Order: sequence, then C-alpha cells, then structure tokens
Amino acid sequence: MKLRFWGTRGSIPVALTAPAIRDKLIAALTTAVGQALDTPEKIARYVDSELSFDVRGTFGGHSSCVELETGGREHIIFDLGSGARPLGQSLLQRHGPNNPQTYHVFMSHVHWDHIMGFPFFAPVYIPGNRVVIHGCHAVLEEAFRRQQAAPSFPVDFSQLAATIEFDRLQPGKRYSIAGVDLIPKLQRHEGDSYGYRVEANGKCLVYSTDSEHKLGDNDERQDFIAFFCNADIVIFDAMYALADAISVKADWGHSSNIVGVELCQAAGARCLCMYHHEPAWNDARIEAVLQETRRFEEITRSGDRLEVISAYDGLELDI
Ligand SMILES: [Zn+2]
Ligand SMILES: [Zn+2]
Repeated sequence: MKLRFWGTRGSIPVALTAPAIRDKLIAALTTAVGQALDTPEKIARYVDSELSFDVRGTFGGHSSCVELETGGREHIIFDLGSGARPLGQSLLQRHGPNNPQTYHVFMSHVHWDHIMGFPFFAPVYIPGNRVVIHGCHAVLEEAFRRQQAAPSFPVDFSQLAATIEFDRLQPGKRYSIAGVDLIPKLQRHEGDSYGYRVEANGKCLVYSTDSEHKLGDNDERQDFIAFFCNADIVIFDAMYALADAISVKADWGHSSNIVGVELCQAAGARCLCMYHHEPAWNDARIEAVLQETRRFEEITRSGDRLEVISAYDGLELDI
C-alpha cells in the first residue's frame, strides 16, 4: 500500500513567506562556500545530500489530508483539509475527466481545518463520480452543507455534480470498506474526534489526529496501546512539544511528540509519523523537534527501534 500526504499542517493552512525562502537560500549558499559547484549535476547532488530537509525543502502548509492507495478500484482518503485541492488535481490527472471514480473519505471530525478542502476537491464537480463521506459524528452532513451555504461560499452543496453520500460509523465497530478492514475510535478533542485503525494486505496503519492524551489516565493509555498495537505506521497528532502540552496548551485537544513515542513504543508500532504540525512553527523548528524526538526514542528504547518521521506535504510512503 502507498500513503500520500497532501496536507500535514494543523488548525490552519500556512504558506512559505519571502523572508523564509531568503533564510533558506542564505543557509544553502553559506554551506556551499568553497565547494566546486560548477555544474547543475554537482549542485543537485549537493542539495540532495548535504542540505537538511528544512533548508532544501519545506514541510508544507496544507491542512490535513492523506491518501491511501491499496491497489483496489476505489480510493481511500483521510480528512478533507486544504490538501484535498492538490489531491483532487492529481486524481483528475491520473484518471482523466471521463472516467468516473468512487472516493471513500474517512473523517476524523468536522473542525474547519479538516473540511475546508472539500469545496475545492475537483472530483465533486464531475458527474458520475461518487464520494462517500464516512464518519462518526451526527453533524457530519450538516457541517459539509453549512460550509457551502450562502454567504460563505459561491457554490451551494446542492449544486455539486457528483453523487455525495454520508455514512455514519459507530466507534469500536469493525467495517470492511473499499477492500480494507477498519475500526474507528473515539478520541479526546473538543466536539470529539475519531481515529482509524486500518488493516489490509497484511499491513496496519493508524490515523490518529486531533487527539489529546491525558498523562496519568491509565485506562485511556491502555486503550490507545491496543489501538496502535503492532501498527506498521501511526500517523499521530504531535502538534505540541511536551512542555506546552502539559502546561499552557493542556485541554487544547492535541498531543505531543513525546507522548507519541511512549505510546508507539508500548504498542510495538514500527513507525511514528508526526502530523498536524503547529502552524506557528517554521521548517527549522519542525526539523529540530524531529531530531529531538529521534534522540528521545533512542534513549528510552527497550525493545525494537521505533522509526520516527515527520510528515510533509508531498511525502509518499510504501507500507
Ligand atoms: Zn485539526
Ligand atoms: Zn480539531
């Protein structure tokens, strides 16, 4: 299976600014001083092998949207943040305009940053396409309809050309949809959110964003260890650093890199993928937190190594 990340930023999309690009150029050119970078090939090699990701790239700015490619006919998507816009463009390119498709979307919750890409998801404007929006919230359909109602958006939900269906799921129940087995789980977040444990082709992925973990709540901890158990990858809300998560930002509904490592280690997961990045953090800060988290994993490791990565817009992973 292949995972593609289209939006990895939390709460609100952000864009790279001119001063931020200038800082990257200065950092890249400073380390290039004295090197014989006199051909495009040598420069490309230098960029790829000697510059850190926060200098040569960016974690990106779209809000939550992840695509899971299973090899089956039907598409699977988690959340419809602003990353749904480039995802829609990519899907149209891959399948062409006259080739109806079925899209299954699994919603963590209906906060704005997770639904705002839907009106810009091009497949909803094409007759013959079918979009099934799955989720556990009673207000699921209402939230999507309301976001497109006047005066907030020029195209009303009722004018969408594709067939849009809503499917209410129950937390804790196992479903077989689009070739995968899937269980939703209730998470602590304002207005509730739901994570998904997905199993297919002998692999397991957990999508767990917008989820706060209370330190000291052992029942909840055991629940999440079972939910993450032996997962090949856990996409985890690591919006805050631990000090923020337990002090100023307690009860804001998000978790930290440290809690992510502890839960994944206890669950025997293979890879922790930090996700829903704090919009106030620049690329250097996200990279620094990634390096700190890897060090923390190393010094607290008692069993197998847990791989730690930070999701970015455009990241593709084979699982
Ligand atoms: Zn969010
Ligand atoms: Zn939220």
